[in-house]
Amino acid sequence: MDIPILLCKEEERKQKHEDSSLTFGKDFTDHMFFMHFKEGKWQDPRIIPYQSFEMDPACSVLHYSQEIFEGMKAFRHPDGSIHMFRPYENAERMNISAERMCMPNINKDLFVKAITELIRVDNEWVPNSPGTSLYIRPTMIASETFIGLRPSEEFYFYVILAPVGPFFKDGFQPTKAYVAVENVRAAPGGTGEAKTGGNYAATLYETKKARELGYPMVIWLDSLERKYVEEGSAMNIMFVIDGEIYTPKLDGTILRGITRESVIEIANKMGYSTHEENLDINVLVEQITNGTCSEAFFVGTAASITPIGKIFFNNQEYVINDNEVGDITQRLYDELVGIQTGKVQDEFNWNYKVA
Ligand SMILES: *Cc1c(COP(=O)(O)O)cnc(C)c1O
Repeated sequence: MDIPILLCKEEERKQKHEDSSLTFGKDFTDHMFFMHFKEGKWQDPRIIPYQSFEMDPACSVLHYSQEIFEGMKAFRHPDGSIHMFRPYENAERMNISAERMCMPNINKDLFVKAITELIRVDNEWVPNSPGTSLYIRPTMIASETFIGLRPSEEFYFYVILAPVGPFFKDGFQPTKAYVAVENVRAAPGGTGEAKTGGNYAATLYETKKARELGYPMVIWLDSLERKYVEEGSAMNIMFVIDGEIYTPKLDGTILRGITRESVIEIANKMGYSTHEENLDINVLVEQITNGTCSEAFFVGTAASITPIGKIFFNNQEYVINDNEVGDITQRLYDELVGIQTGKVQDEFNWNYKVA
C-alpha cells in the first residue's frame, strides 16, 4: 500500500537547530503521519505537514484519557544511513497497550512502514553528532465527541518526530533517584504494563516532590508491600550485585521495556549472569552500604542507559560506587549505543534500515 504524501510549502519549513543545541522533546520536524479510525476501520493513512488538531471540548480523550503512545528512536550511522532500533517490538507493544485500553489494533507492517516513510520525508532532520538521535512518538487518542463512559468509536493515530540531544544535559553521568514511599505508579490489575497517558500523570506528584529535593528521578515501589523496586520514572531499573545483573521481574505492573530486554540479551552475550526477580529496597540499600551492590542504572529509549549515583530512601542518601559510572554499566552502554549508532557490529539484527 502506498501512503500519500502532502509536503509542506517551502516557506512553511521550520528552522533546524545545530546538533549541539538540541534538547529533548521541544522541537518537531516538518511532517507527521496521520490516520483516522471510524466505522470500524483505519482510514486514509497519509503524511501531511505537521499541524494542530481542532477538537471538540467534549472529545473523549480530553476527559477519560483513552490514549496510548510509543517511544522509539532512529539513529544516523557513520555512513550516513538511518536506522530504527527494533521498531516491530514497539508495534507489538502498542497493540498490547491498545488491547488493555479498548482501542483498535494497528497492522504492524503499516506501523513500521508509516514511520519509515515519514522519516524518509524528514530525513534531513536526523542529527548525526554523538548523543543525538531522532525520537519517534506514535500516539493514539480517542477522538469521538462524547462524554459518556464507554470506549470511543473513533480514534486518531499519528506519529511525530523530534530531533533530540542527550536526555540528561550533563551526558553520561550518574543521576540521583528518590524512592517514592507515599504514592505508587501502578498496582496489580491496573494499567502499569500499558503505555497510556494516565500512568504518567499519576507520577507527576512524586516527581515534583523529588525534584524539589534535588532528585531528578523517582524509583517506584510495589503497591502491596511498598518494598519491591519496580521502575524508575519512565524507565526500567537494573542493579549489579556481586558482579551479576538483577532487574525486577515483569509482573503486570512494570512496563516491558525494549531497552530492558535488549540489555539483558547483551549482558548474557557478554557472559554476565542476569536475574529477573523481586528486589527488596531494604535489602538493596544494605547491599549498597556494604558494597555488594556496586552499580545501578536506568534503562529506556529516551536515555538508553543512565547510571544511578545516589539513592534517597527514608530520609537517608545512599551513594553507589562513589558516584562514579561502574565498569559493567559502561560496557553495556558502549555495546547498546554502539549497536544503535552503527559503530558496533549488530549481531542481534536489531537495526531496521530506513534510508
Ligand atoms: C517506555 C517506558 C519504559 C522503557 O521502555 P523502552 O521500550 O525501553 O523505551 C520503561 N518504563 C516505563 C514506565 C515506560 O513508559
